[in-house]
Amino acid sequence: MNLNTVIEMDKKYYMNTFGNRIPVCFTYGKGINLWDTQGNKYYDFLSGIAVNALGHSHPKVVNAIKSQAEKLIHCSNLYYIENQAQLAKVLVENSCAGRVFFSNSGAEANEGAFKLARIYFKKKGMPDKYEIITLKKSFHGRTLATTAATGQEKYQKPYAPLTPGFINVPLNDIDALKAAVNEKTCAVMIEPIQGESGVNPVDPQYIKEVKKLCEANDILLIFDEIQCGLGRTGKLFAYEHFDVEPDIFTLAKALGNGIPIGALCAKEFVASAFEPGDHGSTFGGNPLACAAGLAVMDALINDGLVKNAEVMGEYFLKKLKALSEKYPVIKEVRGKGLMIGIELSIEKAADIKNKCFNMGYLIGNVGTHILRILPPLIVTEQDIDGMIAVLDKALGETIEAE
Ligand SMILES: *Cc1c(COP(=O)(O)O)cnc(C)c1O
Repeated sequence: MNLNTVIEMDKKYYMNTFGNRIPVCFTYGKGINLWDTQGNKYYDFLSGIAVNALGHSHPKVVNAIKSQAEKLIHCSNLYYIENQAQLAKVLVENSCAGRVFFSNSGAEANEGAFKLARIYFKKKGMPDKYEIITLKKSFHGRTLATTAATGQEKYQKPYAPLTPGFINVPLNDIDALKAAVNEKTCAVMIEPIQGESGVNPVDPQYIKEVKKLCEANDILLIFDEIQCGLGRTGKLFAYEHFDVEPDIFTLAKALGNGIPIGALCAKEFVASAFEPGDHGSTFGGNPLACAAGLAVMDALINDGLVKNAEVMGEYFLKKLKALSEKYPVIKEVRGKGLMIGIELSIEKAADIKNKCFNMGYLIGNVGTHILRILPPLIVTEQDIDGMIAVLDKALGETIEAE
């Protein structure tokens, strides 16, 4: 089908939540590359927004899905599921969690985290400890409760009244957090490196103080690692950068490399609050999704991809710092590993993104000032050199036109 036919059908039949999308339709992907309906080749430096961490059509994932699809795609959680038990084991053995529960998306994993935090205190005989504090500029998902948790007005305003029991406080401000904590607080939820709002790393000292505050006040610490987890920052889990272990953390995006799956992970003392009947899911943890998850964890752990994210992240940052010396409109380059934000002093982020797209490179923009780069963890120095050359050209043309 040609691109215009797809666009016409979308405009007529699909709900208009995505507006005028970038006018391209991809039909094939391999590694870091994508091809569109016209056979044009692209370099994917956004990875489906941190989903395709192993790149496209990774053989381990493709083979796992293929062979599982031929055997059994779905089976109710009324029965035991081998891949589900295996994937839970891999996650527990490689993290601070004691138990895992699988969902179908990130938002749904976060909903599970809120429910677990609340029921934990209910069962301890503290039914009034239900408030959850989150940070401004965070992103926790699009369901009603995760919208209340997401500290951004643009997502909250159209859906008032919001789900009660959530408070948003300014980022990196420990006094504001202390002021918000009270006897009703059951959890503090943090995205250790905020992705959606423009790659804002949370101050490590602040995270340490949050942990202390939580311990002193019998409050659970939840990390949303849906975007920053699973190797993206150069560590398997982002909390490893901070010397702090969360009581609960959530995963999704990269976990299935494109097959929808999320995970709610918790230390045993919290996880045991969930008893038979307290939570559930129809699709969550099905044999197909968990086969994809097992293939992803295998590649992350055994193929050196976490290390590659660290090494390539440093290489990328060095090249971007050099670019920022050539172009002073680059105000700041920030991030960890392969989670990178570039803040500009000019309102040209969308223009630069479009220029890169026209040269066959996919990146993202956040608002008018920030570029977001999330390459797959298989990225090479050669790929990065290509991206840098394209950014150089796009920045040069933009400044010339100013
Ligand atoms: C993408 C994202 C979510 C939401 O995940 P969905 O799968 O879209 O529901 C939640 N938190 C963070 C940090 C994310 O990046």
